[in-house]
Amino acid sequence: MGKSIQMVDLHGQYLKMKPEIDQAIQEVIDSSAFINGQPVKEFAGELAEYLGSKCVIPCANGTEALQIAYMALGLEPGDEVIMPAFNYVASAEAAALMGLKPVFVDVHPDTYNIDVDQLEKVITSKTKAIVVVHLFGQSVDMEPILSLARKHQVKVIEDNAQALGAVYTFPDGTQHKAGIMGDIGTTSFFPTKTLGGYGDGGAMFTNNDELATVSRMIASHGQAKKYTFERIGLNSRLDTMQAAILRVKLKRLDEWNLFRQEAAAVYDELLGNMKGIEIPSRSGFSTHVFHQYVIRVTGKPRDEVKDALKTAGIPSMVYYPSPLHLQQAFAYLGYREGDFPVAEKLCSEVLALPIHTELQREEQEQIVSKLKEIIQ
Ligand SMILES: *Cc1c(COP(=O)(O)O)cnc(C)c1O
Repeated sequence: MGKSIQMVDLHGQYLKMKPEIDQAIQEVIDSSAFINGQPVKEFAGELAEYLGSKCVIPCANGTEALQIAYMALGLEPGDEVIMPAFNYVASAEAAALMGLKPVFVDVHPDTYNIDVDQLEKVITSKTKAIVVVHLFGQSVDMEPILSLARKHQVKVIEDNAQALGAVYTFPDGTQHKAGIMGDIGTTSFFPTKTLGGYGDGGAMFTNNDELATVSRMIASHGQAKKYTFERIGLNSRLDTMQAAILRVKLKRLDEWNLFRQEAAAVYDELLGNMKGIEIPSRSGFSTHVFHQYVIRVTGKPRDEVKDALKTAGIPSMVYYPSPLHLQQAFAYLGYREGDFPVAEKLCSEVLALPIHTELQREEQEQIVSKLKEIIQ
């Protein structure tokens, strides 16, 4: 093995499309339309078509996409927003910043996604929205969420920063891409995401024209037209350079998703009957685009395994080391250890193995044989 194993290999990926990326960047420089240039509109149109969404509104990052979604839905201080406890911080942070109250729910031990069976009992008269997070590349079971939301008249926001391109199948056989089934979806183009730029970026998607208009206005200082400020907004833009790069990368997203699915199948095969490891399960209702391949380490302390891999030159990551309800920033909400046992257990067991568009089978074999040596 010449090259060392990497968690993601953005440079290797770049080299395979260098002429196209370099040209896209050069064109932006030549046009000098660094803000709101033509590629931003083109990218939004292409992403809308890819997702099957009526409108795509680009913005500065995935966290602001969530904040703009909350604002566009008219959420107000004191409103409760339900979200999973096993999650990245963004949906809770954006809610808290706006004076909304994050209300956590435990997750399902197989999918790592929000446990629909535990959702209804936390709905109160103050609940205004549910944020579902399509974690690690697999869509949440949307049908029961959407029917609960209809029953209680609450909005559904899909945080789709990790599952762009995943396809959800409703019980009647209808299929939709993750992110466009609720009222509004959000995503992030952080470099390591499955569709990542070379800097920050984000977007919202919706089939609701009114919500699209409001979101677009909020992302642009609340302007209805230039220097007419209709409401309080943000300055949240996807810059032209990122849009130009993302246009090149979007064309390859399906091919990359397929590549990661195949790499995941190789891990499954190599790890399948290994004691002390649980491989990620696949739900019957969603494809899995494997933004992350996350195993559970049950045979030995996870951190010991992670350290031993590191010593052997093999990177791995922990998403996430602590559930949101036990983070100091959210201590004011009054949750305690034991409130969400599945999320808490996952945080001590999960380990993400390298998975990316340049990963080689020999590297996976090397990773797995080292894992076996460590655990057995
Ligand atoms: C990456 C991520 C975000 C935030 O995206 P940024 O662009 O970094 O703000 C939000 N939610 C989830 C689930 C993410 O993985």
